[in-house]
Amino acid sequence: MRRTLWATLALSALVVPVFAGQAAHAASRPAVQAASRPAVTAGIAAAAVPAAKPTAKPGKSPTTVVALTFDDGDRSHAMAARLLEKHGLRGTFYVNSGDLGTPGKLSRRQVAAIAKAGHEIGGHTVNHERLTDLDPEEQAATICADRRALLGTGLRVRTFAYPYGAVDATARQAARDCGYNAARTIGGIAQRPCRDCTVAEPARPERVYEIRTPGSVRESATLADLKGYVIRAEQGGGGLLPLAFHKVCARGCGTFSVRTDVLDRFLSWLAKRERHGTAVRTLGDVTGGRVRPAPAEVPGG
Ligand SMILES: [Zn+2]
Repeated sequence: MRRTLWATLALSALVVPVFAGQAAHAASRPAVQAASRPAVTAGIAAAAVPAAKPTAKPGKSPTTVVALTFDDGDRSHAMAARLLEKHGLRGTFYVNSGDLGTPGKLSRRQVAAIAKAGHEIGGHTVNHERLTDLDPEEQAATICADRRALLGTGLRVRTFAYPYGAVDATARQAARDCGYNAARTIGGIAQRPCRDCTVAEPARPERVYEIRTPGSVRESATLADLKGYVIRAEQGGGGLLPLAFHKVCARGCGTFSVRTDVLDRFLSWLAKRERHGTAVRTLGDVTGGRVRPAPAEVPGG
């Protein structure tokens, strides 16, 4: 009981600044600062409470939420989804509706199976267009047509990812107008240890139509690199950490890929991170909101 009280106080010391939208930007903020804060409880609990790090118990809100996202509907994602399931985790798979069933890509049936297993399917334009090369009407056309196609197959698409992470003001507006509740870009979160840099999004991102990641996970990424993203977010006070993966294959398959064994070991480690206040959620579950209908007409077109 005493321990629970202390854990609650210590946890709230971490959570409050996150929800105030201030946290997650200082990697150097010491976790012990929070641990030493509830001095008022010392008289009650000093004898019983060990000097442990704050922990999140089952049922409590986590302080760090990792969103595992996989772009482009690559054929390897059917296996990647099963790998997540093996560890009790669920991810977000961003697919291009116009490319499904083409060589190297998931079939519609595979996408439906991934969704049925509890993963999120999100939109990624019809044919992976670089939105910043398009005019505003063309941007809205491909984002909305893709979302309509996915909704039409019964998928509950709530979030979007910008191909190549390429985004501008009109693309953000189009993602909103096409009915998405949130959208993910690439980059903006530090990939290496650094002072006073961004290590996670706030728990409620300030720019929900431009949610950041630590770049894209590359073939050169080691298990330590992947763990490092999570540990820095935890030590920075928590928040939302979206990770962007592309292909998943046994020996690497291009710059934007991750080795299956590296991902497997990372997921195994990540799935046991609850005692550090870290949980894994789909991006749509983090950002929330109902499944909105797609507009019948292209906005502004
Ligand atoms: Zn992509």
